[in-house]
Amino acid sequence: MRYEGDIYRPGPTENNSYLLQVTLGCSHNKCTFCSFYKDKPFRVRPYEELEEDIMMARNYYKYVPSVFLCDGNVTCLSMDRLRPILQKIKEVFPESAHTNMFGRYSDVYRKTVDELKEMKELGVEQIVMGLESGSDIVLSKIKKNCTAEEEIIAGQKMHEAGIELGTGVILGLGGVEHSEDHVKGTIRVLNEINPPVIGFTVLNPQTGTPLYNDIQSGVFELPTYRQIFWEEAEILKGLQLKRPTNILTGVFLPNNDVISGTFPDEKERLVKLSESRMKKYPQWLDKKLIMNGHL
Ligand code: SF4
Repeated sequence: MRYEGDIYRPGPTENNSYLLQVTLGCSHNKCTFCSFYKDKPFRVRPYEELEEDIMMARNYYKYVPSVFLCDGNVTCLSMDRLRPILQKIKEVFPESAHTNMFGRYSDVYRKTVDELKEMKELGVEQIVMGLESGSDIVLSKIKKNCTAEEEIIAGQKMHEAGIELGTGVILGLGGVEHSEDHVKGTIRVLNEINPPVIGFTVLNPQTGTPLYNDIQSGVFELPTYRQIFWEEAEILKGLQLKRPTNILTGVFLPNNDVISGTFPDEKERLVKLSESRMKKYPQWLDKKLIMNGHL
């Protein structure tokens, strides 16, 4: 198997997937907080190369339970480029349960529902896309190149096409200045798209990113954990989800103090657990978020 640079995949759903590197890096690569593909110039690997990789994997693995397409956002490919790749995977790995990938809301927004339905027919069960925030102010500050309205339309198209949307929110991404708008906008977008999976992480600025430099120069004020706990609880309280949604939050805390469950049935329990964090971790309340790592 041939890979270039660091490879990322979502867990645990893709832990056993065969990873096929369709693109190198990210076609956008401008989000101010992201360090994933900064050293990897973006390119799409030629189909012939991918076919060779697929055949190599077939010869190597007797059983492929599922396939995941890397790198950053394979959804940027047109259907003309994506179709033959998905068809080949289906033909060569008939045992595979799905072919999932990372995506961007703005790419999915540009796809038609029929194209997404075709992707579903060709084995795409889930696309994992970072929402990060539903606030237009925050989205513009982090240079996500996407609006809240586009996020909503993209999420609704995926639901209509029957593709599961796995999405993530970054607590603290609005800094101190835009915390309230971050919370308000994120609640609105999540309620409109009602994704089946939402994960919460916390801002973790990495050296060399534009956001890190803004923190160093005082342009961006890092929030405290008091703010993070407040944002988590407020968003959970604000969610009015009609379809079942799996929520996972807290992997950013020591001892993996994770809160997980299904909305709307377990909303009350999850909100209570989130609200208890302030009492549980008084020593952190006035601490600023850590850079380049976690507590
Ligand atoms: S957050 Fe996603 S879209 Fe933004 S630069 Fe990183 S990989 Fe690309």
